[in-house]
Amino acid sequence: MARLGRMTSASPGAARTPRAALAALLAGNRRFVSGQPVHGHDVTAAAAVASGDQQPYAVLLGCIDSRVPLEAIFDQTFGSICVIRTGAHVLDRAVCGSIEYVVGQLGVPLVMVLGHERCGAVASAVQTLRTGRPPGGSLAYVVDQIAPAVTEVGPDDPAAHPMAVRRHVLRTVAALRADDLLTGPVAAGEVDVVGALYDLATGEVALLDR
Ligand SMILES: [Zn+2]
Repeated sequence: MARLGRMTSASPGAARTPRAALAALLAGNRRFVSGQPVHGHDVTAAAAVASGDQQPYAVLLGCIDSRVPLEAIFDQTFGSICVIRTGAHVLDRAVCGSIEYVVGQLGVPLVMVLGHERCGAVASAVQTLRTGRPPGGSLAYVVDQIAPAVTEVGPDDPAAHPMAVRRHVLRTVAALRADDLLTGPVAAGEVDVVGALYDLATGEVALLDR
C-alpha cells in the first residue's frame, strides 16, 4: 500500500479531474491518519520539482491554526497542492484572486475549504455576537466575515461554536462557487469546490454535504 501511495503521489499532475483530485487528497489523509505518510519533505523532493512548471492538482483553503498544517495532514509533497491559510479560512480579494489564479492559470480542478473544531477565529465571532463588543483593527474584518454563520446558527445556542464552524465552511464553499471566475468552470463540471472538517485529535478529514 505504501508503495502504491508513493507512486500515486509522486505524480500529482495525474489528478486532473475533480473526482481524481479529491480521491488523491483523501488517500493522503488516510496515509497520515494511519501513521504511514510517504512524504518526508526533504530537500531532494524540493529539488525534484524545481525546474519546469508546477502542476498542483488541488488548492486548499484552511485556517491559520498551528495544529492544522495542510501539507502534513494530507501527506502532500512539493508541487502537489497550493495552500492558502487565513483565520477561519476567511475570504478576501487576495484569497479569491489567488484561487482564481490556481484554477484558471494552473488548471487545478479541485478547491477544498477545510474548517476545524475549536477554531479560535470562530470563537471570536461567537464571543463578539454574544457580547456586542467587536475586536479592533483588522481582526474586526475577520470576525465580520464569520459573523453571518454564527448568526445563522444562533450565537446563544450552547452548540453555537461547532455549528458555526460547519456553517462557515459551507458559506465559504458557496461564496467560492459563486466567484466570478470560478462559477463557469464549476457549472461545467471542470472544477469542484468542496468543504470538509478536520478532527484535531484523530487527524481525520470528513467531507461536508452541501
Ligand atoms: Zn481556526
